[in-house]
Amino acid sequence: MQRDIEAVLIDRHAIARRIGELAQTIVRDLAPGTSSADDAHPVITLVPVLTGSIIFVSDLIRHMPLRMQIRLISITSYPGASTSSQGAKLRGGLTSLPESLAGAHVLLIDDILDSGKTLTLACEEIAKRGPASVKTCVLLRKQRPEAAKFPVDYVCFDIPDKFVVGYGLDCNDYYRNLPDIVTLRPEVLARLAAEAASP
Ligand code: 5GP
Ligand code: MG
Repeated sequence: MQRDIEAVLIDRHAIARRIGELAQTIVRDLAPGTSSADDAHPVITLVPVLTGSIIFVSDLIRHMPLRMQIRLISITSYPGASTSSQGAKLRGGLTSLPESLAGAHVLLIDDILDSGKTLTLACEEIAKRGPASVKTCVLLRKQRPEAAKFPVDYVCFDIPDKFVVGYGLDCNDYYRNLPDIVTLRPEVLARLAAEAASP
């Protein structure tokens, strides 16, 4: 796996530092005056987008001493070894959004904002359920016009418009367990694309 890496874009220490900072900002905004895990209000409903956000969310929430529930939404847009969006699609089986989110303060969390299609679809699904408020948070935002147009509330890092893996992000479902955010060597991407295309 290490041999497949072209370059480390953001290392594990920088990620950990920035996540601590971002969590503080989010907690201040969502629950002003909250200082302990026992504070009951307001209740936050966290909605991670599967699968890429799992590592980010698990690190972020351990810096958020708020009463929260977690409801999942599963959306796929980079199937297999795709390195560009193939259009966002909801995957029903793994989604655990309740029928109603009335009164809920939702924090929607994704790994990366690229074309904005995934977050647009996720926001539509959440809006149908009538929440009290919705805020959005991403680990990464790519520097491209489509991403800049989407009004996201919290961004951990802005990155160049490159295909990245690691820290939850995959290529053909591999590399999610890499602790750093990295780019892959072009010949590795070509090999994975060929593997994903063969039956
Ligand atoms: P969007 O719908 O904004 O185009 O893309 C968001 C989704 O596409 C992300 O949730 C992620 O699953 C996938 N994606 C976008 N860019 C990348 C990337 O550079 N690397 C990986 N591994 N996935 C990406
Ligand atoms: Mg995704």
